[in-house]
Amino acid sequence: MMGDTDYRSLVQNAIESIGRDLKIQVDPTDTKKIHLHEVVSCMRRAYYNRIEPEESNTGGFNDLLPGLLRKLQYGCDPRGFNIGDGLGLEGRADMIADDVVIIFRPIPITHITEDNYDIENPHASDVLYLNACMWMYEKESGIIVYMSGDRRETMFSLTRSKRMFEETIRRTRVFSGLVGEKKTPILEPSSECFECQYYERCYTKRRNAKQLQLHEMFGLGKSKK
Ligand code: SF4
Repeated sequence: MMGDTDYRSLVQNAIESIGRDLKIQVDPTDTKKIHLHEVVSCMRRAYYNRIEPEESNTGGFNDLLPGLLRKLQYGCDPRGFNIGDGLGLEGRADMIADDVVIIFRPIPITHITEDNYDIENPHASDVLYLNACMWMYEKESGIIVYMSGDRRETMFSLTRSKRMFEETIRRTRVFSGLVGEKKTPILEPSSECFECQYYERCYTKRRNAKQLQLHEMFGLGKSKK
């Protein structure tokens, strides 16, 4: 802090405000239009984002990169995919160059060690996202670029898989149904949980439920009456 001004908070607020502007807008009431990012990672988190949202902590400036790139002249327009029964899936690649679909991602926090970045394989949700984009934009190949704040990058190239896309479509149908019926999707434990704003909601309640059972088992609840 310099003088009375907290510059760190000022910058953090500015980054969060840019992050909100770049965020893909989801209409929580539209159960027939599902966004790709909602179904390629934890659907429970996507459900909470629609039904009972809480702000997530925006990471650093690096996390804003995909959104900023989409705004540039190289950025792609969103693409829809008709699943049938009025249900549509919408996705957006970050860039297409030489018939190759490209998405940019910050290096996941779980892959950063004290002095190195350890990415042997791309994140499953990024693979699903890129694969779906390849089908939506009718391209055969794609690249995921992981970038760090110090301008190091790691790339993975992929060719599209029909089976993987069918799985994304299946998840889209399931998610649409659950949102329509206001049923919370099951937990999908993964490394995503550690940076998820709903961690407490998912895991603390379960722990309390367990404690409650233990109290009941040992009759501790009765002794308090
Ligand atoms: S904590 Fe994990 S399971 Fe729960 S919503 Fe977040 S990512 Fe999903």
